[in-house]
Amino acid sequence: MPPWLPKRCPETGGACLRADWEAWENAALSPHAARASESRGRERPEEEDAIRTAFQRDRDRIIHSKAFRRLKDKTQVFLAAEGDHYRTRLTHTLEVAQIARTIARALRLNEDLTEAVALGHDLGHTPFGHAGEDVLTTLYPGGFRHNEQSLRVVEVLERPGGLNLTFEVRDGILNHIAAGTPATLEARVVHFSDRIAYVNHDIDDALRGQVLAEEEIPSAILDVLGRTHAQRISTLVQDLVASSYGQERIMLSPARQDALSGLRTFLFERVYVGSDAKREEEKAKGVVSALYQAYLADVDRAPGKDGKEAVRDYVAGMTDRFAIAAFRRMFVPKEFRPDD
Ligand code: MG
Repeated sequence: MPPWLPKRCPETGGACLRADWEAWENAALSPHAARASESRGRERPEEEDAIRTAFQRDRDRIIHSKAFRRLKDKTQVFLAAEGDHYRTRLTHTLEVAQIARTIARALRLNEDLTEAVALGHDLGHTPFGHAGEDVLTTLYPGGFRHNEQSLRVVEVLERPGGLNLTFEVRDGILNHIAAGTPATLEARVVHFSDRIAYVNHDIDDALRGQVLAEEEIPSAILDVLGRTHAQRISTLVQDLVASSYGQERIMLSPARQDALSGLRTFLFERVYVGSDAKREEEKAKGVVSALYQAYLADVDRAPGKDGKEAVRDYVAGMTDRFAIAAFRRMFVPKEFRPDD
């Protein structure tokens, strides 16, 4: 520890060091919270940071990763290039992190762990949202699941040897999906926050894009959740906190859970499948499929490589923008220009 750093906080008015935060977590957090000092550790042991806990350090590694920056050009529902105000995978991720941190803090769970899992949960998402995922699921032997790919990003693909994150963050990223059974309540908070975020912001984007009109949303659902975007998120966050406080599980009350599920079903029927929001989806699938097969034909000629895996990782990592540019280079003839 550098000698210029004061040893204790806050009684002495000094800076807070990692050991102080760990002591604070041990004293202040719920007995059901994960604690940085009790982490099951990293894949490869490392010396601890002087200032940050292990979970704070993991969060920072995710924010500084290339995969995190690429989220800005990956589609959520509306193709990322179509309008400046629609959510992208990056703004979705930030909304999930905001909701998850609010919930974690209210439940006295570990806010740093929650934030790290939330910021990392969609790192493995393909270009063009679930359209890209559907194509890779069909083409790649064994299928493709974005949560498994998110884990692969932090364990293998980002930097040589991966980001070397703690077990709890990796477990939360892998198990943020509905079927997951994560080891921490913080990861369950992220699962619910993901759903609260996307159901509400996809409704908001669908209204903005005039794919939906307000009066089409079933009023029985609005009666339970609220009439505005902000009301609906507040209702769900407050209900989840009230239903889960002091408990060893995270849940919504049955009425709010039913309303949220109803809104999600409504989105599937009206927005996610066959709507105007999806009119370019077949073309997007065609781009991903053509790129995957073209790269595969290329690497198959190179001996000694697991071609399919390398191509899956490469295509899944692309932004929408990069995929369209690669497709154009590969399949669209360039116009003649005299000085080319
Ligand atoms: Mg998500």
